[in-house]
Amino acid sequence: MKPSTLAVAGLPLTVRPSITCVVPAFNEKDGIAAFLTGLCEHLSALTEHYDVIVVDDGSRDGTGLEVIAASGGLPVRLLSLSRNFGKESAISAGLDEAGGEVVVIIDADFQQPFHVIDEFIRKWQQGYDMVYGLRTNRDTDPPLRRFLSRMFYKTLSRWSSVDIPADAGDFRLLDRRVVKALKDLPERSRFMKGLYNWVGFRSVAVPFVYGERREGKSKFNFPRLFDLAMTGLTSFSAFPLRLWVAAGTMISSGSILYAGWIILRTLTQGSHVPGWASLAVAVSFLGGVQLLSIGILGEYVARIFTEVKGRPNYVVAERHGFTAETRDS
Ligand code: UDP
Ligand code: MG
Repeated sequence: MKPSTLAVAGLPLTVRPSITCVVPAFNEKDGIAAFLTGLCEHLSALTEHYDVIVVDDGSRDGTGLEVIAASGGLPVRLLSLSRNFGKESAISAGLDEAGGEVVVIIDADFQQPFHVIDEFIRKWQQGYDMVYGLRTNRDTDPPLRRFLSRMFYKTLSRWSSVDIPADAGDFRLLDRRVVKALKDLPERSRFMKGLYNWVGFRSVAVPFVYGERREGKSKFNFPRLFDLAMTGLTSFSAFPLRLWVAAGTMISSGSILYAGWIILRTLTQGSHVPGWASLAVAVSFLGGVQLLSIGILGEYVARIFTEVKGRPNYVVAERHGFTAETRDS
């Protein structure tokens, strides 16, 4: 590619990659038009070859129509999923269609500043295949979410084989080789933060300040976050299973000691009529432990079930702005 006179914040862009931005959007009608205009304006200053794929993740507020209305004259394409499949699947759908040399994943709510993309590109030029944004602040999240997400990442980094940075999200640049590797992963339960890490490649973090949402509110309520956390834990760690192996061992050892003590006492002091209270406690405690461990087994069985069914990660209802070639690829 020939050298360019375009510059990113003072640095000459000797290699200008073609950029595809993947934007998952779910009920983002109010802010999406301004977002797309701003994003395209920013990208056009970086390279002549860019496009934006908005993945409408089953919005019910007319986000898709808003995108079509806003995309006049802009290289914006729209992929409408047939229902809400969740952000992870929406990103997968976008990656499947992305054709750029580099792909940037960005949310549709202005929380991730555009200027960070310049730094992403600069790192890519230095030879990194994956450049991810690292949040330096979490004050835009409610305290309970902050606490739970800290606990989750601690557990995951302690007990899983992949090292997932706590403050990294989906906001990142991926070289097309990374995109190919991600597309080749066959799994259905897609915990993207784990998968980015699993595929490897040279990666680097770019710290940035997470902004406030301009319109609407966060789509991640507690049940959704819980679901994501369970997918993450069960896809990348056998910790929940091992926990119960450890608990089972401890409880069994305790029971053996207790049985020994009862035998000894019967031999030395004769037989007592044992109290029902201790029996009831032991039975209910063990019942609880068993139910919990069966539940955890069930989580894994459910994951296996999902994988075995082999259903696609998403279903596309409509495409707008895609050519016939991209439609079939
Ligand atoms: N999103 C999506 N599908 C969903 C939930 C969210 O595509 O089921 C999109 C949403 O429109 C936004 C991005 O994912 O562009 C991040 O969501 P949000 O801002 O609600 O998350 P937060 O910033 O609170 O982590
Ligand atoms: Mg957000």
